[in-house]
Amino acid sequence: MNQKKEYLDRCVELAAEAYQFLKNSTVKDRAAFMYAVADKIEKLGPELIETANQESALPFPRLEGEKGRTIGQWRSYADAITTGLYTEARIDLANPEKGKNDIRKYSIGIGPVVVFGASNFPFAFSTAGGDTASAIAAGCPVIVKGHSGHQKTSSIMAAVILETVQEFGWPEGVFGHVLGNEVEGTNTKIGAYLVGHELIKAVGFTGSYWGGKSLFDIANQRKEPIPVFAEMGSINPVFAFSHILEENPEQLAKDYAASLTLGVGQFCTNPGLFIAVKGDGLNKFKKALQEAVIGISPAKMLNQGIYDHFEKNKSLLSNQPSVEVLSESNTLAENGQGRPTVVHTNAKNFLENEILSEEVFGPFGLLIEADTYEEVEKIAKELNGQLTITFAGTSADVKEHLNIFNIIKDKAGRLLFNGMPTGVEVVYAMQHGGPFPSSTDPRFTSVGPDSVKRFVRPLSFQNWPNEFLPEELKNENTLGIQRIVNGSSTQNPINSQS
Ligand code: NAP
Repeated sequence: MNQKKEYLDRCVELAAEAYQFLKNSTVKDRAAFMYAVADKIEKLGPELIETANQESALPFPRLEGEKGRTIGQWRSYADAITTGLYTEARIDLANPEKGKNDIRKYSIGIGPVVVFGASNFPFAFSTAGGDTASAIAAGCPVIVKGHSGHQKTSSIMAAVILETVQEFGWPEGVFGHVLGNEVEGTNTKIGAYLVGHELIKAVGFTGSYWGGKSLFDIANQRKEPIPVFAEMGSINPVFAFSHILEENPEQLAKDYAASLTLGVGQFCTNPGLFIAVKGDGLNKFKKALQEAVIGISPAKMLNQGIYDHFEKNKSLLSNQPSVEVLSESNTLAENGQGRPTVVHTNAKNFLENEILSEEVFGPFGLLIEADTYEEVEKIAKELNGQLTITFAGTSADVKEHLNIFNIIKDKAGRLLFNGMPTGVEVVYAMQHGGPFPSSTDPRFTSVGPDSVKRFVRPLSFQNWPNEFLPEELKNENTLGIQRIVNGSSTQNPINSQS
C-alpha cells in the first residue's frame, strides 16, 4: 500500500496547525487528555489482544502485560508532567538596583513529531506507545508511521487516540496515523518523506540500526536539521567473573538461557554476548547452559522478515572461523520459528573479527572464552555503545576488576550488577538508550517519564508583563508546579509586590 504525497502533506500541515494549539496548553490540560487515552485503552475488549496476537504471533499473556505497561506509560508520564518536572520553570526576578532583568525560562514542546512503530512491541513502542505518550506530554502533535507487521493493531490504537482528540475538542492534527510503504509514484519511503518534511521537528524510532541510521542521516541533511531519537538495539554483553562462576554457575546459566530466549529473543535488551575467563567455574556454567538451551523449544518469530534476518545473521556468525556451536534446542524449528542457539569462540578471535559484534535479533548467544582478564579488559575497551552491560559477579569480583567496571561505564546506558537485562521497568530512574550505535543520542531515554525531555526545548522570556507569560511562568503559579525562583526550588506563587 502506498500513500499520496498530498495526503502526507495534509497530515503534516494539520499537525503544524495543532502545534499552535498544543504549545499553549498547560501540563494539566495534557495530563487530562493522557489519562483519558489510558482509560480508553484499558477498556478495549479482547479484539485488541486477539488482533495483535494474529499479527505478531506474540502470546496472549505477553500482550496482556504489554497492554498494562502501555496504560501505565500514559498515566505515569501524565503524573510526571503535572509536577512541573519537565516544564523546568526557572525564574530570576528583576533587580533594577543591580541592573538585572526579569528572566523566566521553561520548556516548550519542540513541534510536530514523527513516531515509528516498532515490530517487537505492538503496544508499548508503537502507535499508542511511549514515544507518542511522551511527545504529547511534551506538547507536541504526533504523526505515527505504523509498522507494517501490525497494521490492524495500529489502527485500533490510533482510533482510541483520535476519539479522545474529538472528545476533548482538540484540533484533529494533534494525532495523525499513516500506514503503508512508499509515496505514490516515487521510490521514497513514507517514513523518509515525513522525516524530510520541513514542518516536522523531531523523530522517535525503535528498530534496526540501518533503519534508524538512515532516518538520522535524512534528518541531518535537511535544510533545518532536526533531532532523531533512534533506539537501535545492541548485543547487551554480560561479563561474568570468577567468584560468581565458582559460587553458582548453574543458576547463572539458567538465568542467562531464560533471558536470551525470552520472547524468542526479540528484545533490544537481549543479552547476546557472554564473556568469561576459562576455568572450572566456566566449565560448569557451559555444561548447565548446554542443558538449559537444549530444553527450550523454538517458537514463532514476529514475522517472516524478522525470521529471515535471524536465520541469515545466525548462520553468518556461526560460520565464522573458530566459531562452534555450544548448544541448540533439541527440537527442530519449523519455518518462521526461532531455534535457541549458543555458539562459542575465544577472545582473540572475537577481537579480530568485527562480524562477531553484530546483533542477531532472536534467541542467539555468543559465548567468549578468554584466557586472561587482560583479554576481557580489551573486549570491554573495544565494545561498541550498548543499551545495557551486565556485571555478573560478587562484591569481591568488583573490587578485583575495578578497571573493567570503570571501562564499561563509558559503553552503556544501563549497568546491571547481576540479574539479566531483559525487562525494562518504566520508572523515573530508567535509562533506555546508550552510546552510539545503540541509540543516536545517549543523553536521552526512550523509557520512563524522562523520555518526555526528548521533545521539549527551552524558551526564555525577558521582561514580559505577567499577563502575557505562559501559565507555567506567571507569578500566581496556579498549576502548583515546582519552580526555581531566584535559585531556590519552590511551589509558592511570587508576590508581585516583592
Ligand atoms: P526496521 O526495518 O528498522 O523498521 C522499523 C520502521 O522504520 C518501519 O516502520 C520501517 O518502515 C521504517 N524504516 C526502516 N528503514 C527505513 C528507511 N530507510 N526509510 C524510511 N523508513 C524506514 O525494523 P523492523 O522492521 O522492526 O525489523 C527489522 C530488523 O530490525 C530486525 O530483524 C532486527 O534486527 C531489528 N530490530 C531491532 C529492534 C530493537 O529493539 N532495536 C527492534 C525491532 C527490530 P517500512 O516498514 O516501510 O520499511
